[in-house]
Amino acid sequence: MARIVMKFGGTSMAGTERIRRVANIVRKQAANGDQVAVVVSAMAGETDRLVNFCREANPLYDPAEYDVVVASGEQVTSGLLALTLQALGCKARSWLGWQLPVHTVEAHAKARIEDIDSDALLASMAAGEIAVIPGFQGIGGDGRVTTLGRGGSDTSAVAVAAAIGADRCDIYTDVDGVYTTDPRIVAKARKQKAVTYEEMLELASVGAKVLQTRSVGLAMKEGVRVQVLSSFTGDDAVPADELPGTMIVSEEEMEQILEDGHMERQHVTGIAHDKNEAKIILTRVPDKPGAVANIFSPLADASINVDMIIQNVGRDKGETDVTFTVPQTDLPRAQALLEDRREDIGFNRIITDSHVAKVSVVGVGMKSHAGVASTMFKSLADRGINIQAISTSEIKVSVMIDEDETELAVRVLHTAYGLDAD
Ligand code: ADP
Ligand code: ASP
Ligand code: MG
Repeated sequence: MARIVMKFGGTSMAGTERIRRVANIVRKQAANGDQVAVVVSAMAGETDRLVNFCREANPLYDPAEYDVVVASGEQVTSGLLALTLQALGCKARSWLGWQLPVHTVEAHAKARIEDIDSDALLASMAAGEIAVIPGFQGIGGDGRVTTLGRGGSDTSAVAVAAAIGADRCDIYTDVDGVYTTDPRIVAKARKQKAVTYEEMLELASVGAKVLQTRSVGLAMKEGVRVQVLSSFTGDDAVPADELPGTMIVSEEEMEQILEDGHMERQHVTGIAHDKNEAKIILTRVPDKPGAVANIFSPLADASINVDMIIQNVGRDKGETDVTFTVPQTDLPRAQALLEDRREDIGFNRIITDSHVAKVSVVGVGMKSHAGVASTMFKSLADRGINIQAISTSEIKVSVMIDEDETELAVRVLHTAYGLDAD
């Protein structure tokens, strides 16, 4: 008997018909004799709809009330899946975030799971009940509902898997694995048999939304075996063990896979893009110690993550322009905070631009292979794509470009690194 966590994303849960297919897959897994906990997302599009209501109600919304609104999507689907499983003759019940409970810390709308009380859950599973858990939601130190940031149900699933010591965490989605890039943009993208935690972490953090970044970090830390696979397997669902998904593996396991000849290692594992960043330029900031801290401290205090940063040498002596990016959803708050501190910071103008995208190439092979960045710059230049900012890490190079050129850039790079499928 194995203990399995199964997570189903928004597209898999979009409507009662789809939920019935999901229930069928879950029923088969349980019929194997496995203990099963299921983590579900809201129906596709539902969280966006709820976020829009919050924006309409108050553009500078209180994140605590935002959480009350957006957590409701998963409550609906968890109840519906439990009902559908019961209709198929399975014993099943839902467990809301506050009922387990899933304790979280830090800011509303981007809370982090601290721990999950799994005693009641384990007892119910041992009694043969299928547990259905709404992803994305938890309970904060103040007893109020929290949510984990967009795509957070992946993290809920991995956290539940860690808490109950699951043998595997299967992430069912609308693609059948992790590809060299988003298969919706590049038809010739290639499915990977396995990806290391480190590479997946980097890919997710630069926009490959197939897994939420935190879910990968948590899986790596807790040693949770994560597999990405499709929930669209036809009417007669096949058990996960027979499906060729993508396994997220440690570096040692990857070495074994390569040694056995099951895969070849490329310098570049994948290409990702992110259209959810916005650029802020502060002009004529005093060029003196402490000026940069004055800009970024208030943003950090408000839990706004700053990504790329460029400080240009100013035209006039003693002044400089500072350019950086923040998540688009945080732009109004960031702008308001900076305006409030105009005097302290001493900038002249604040210019914002949401029409930018970040495109990144990721691969462990970069550590030992030079020339990855120059291939990127040259391929983009050949297509007349202008680079507005660059950032790098040991296994990643990112560029900021005009949003309209995102898809073209991803395709060009996919070809340039020899990733296109035959
Ligand atoms: P879910 O609702 O199941 O959580 P998401 O929409 O969050 O699904 O994530 C799945 C989507 O991720 C796919 O439909 C695909 O468009 C996108 N995606 C981006 N990069 C990749 C990649 N490298 N491999 C697979 N899918 C990717
Ligand atoms: N429903 C949430 C979202 O759309 C969480 C998730 O689906 O993972 O972001
Ligand atoms: Mg997702």
